[in-house]
Amino acid sequence: MIFELKAEYGFASVDTEIHLWHLVREGGSVALCERTMTVDSRTRSSADLRDIFPERLCPACRQRYCELLPSMTHPAPAAPVAHSKG
Ligand SMILES: [Zn+2]
Repeated sequence: MIFELKAEYGFASVDTEIHLWHLVREGGSVALCERTMTVDSRTRSSADLRDIFPERLCPACRQRYCELLPSMTHPAPAAPVAHSKG
């Protein structure tokens, strides 16, 4: 599954600084947070995620992204192993 980053611009004008990046499925227009992005929003590859400040990435999108791509999340603590007695 491939994602792209789409920019949500400030409400004033497209020339203003980008407020937030959302994650959108490649070729799609609806972000993971269910916000509909405009087709002409600036788009970046999800490979650029590492270059984006966490505060600039939509928290809802990030959450969904981590759920969809477990490998992107921090290593989870090992699940407790049920020790069978006996
Ligand atoms: Zn979002």
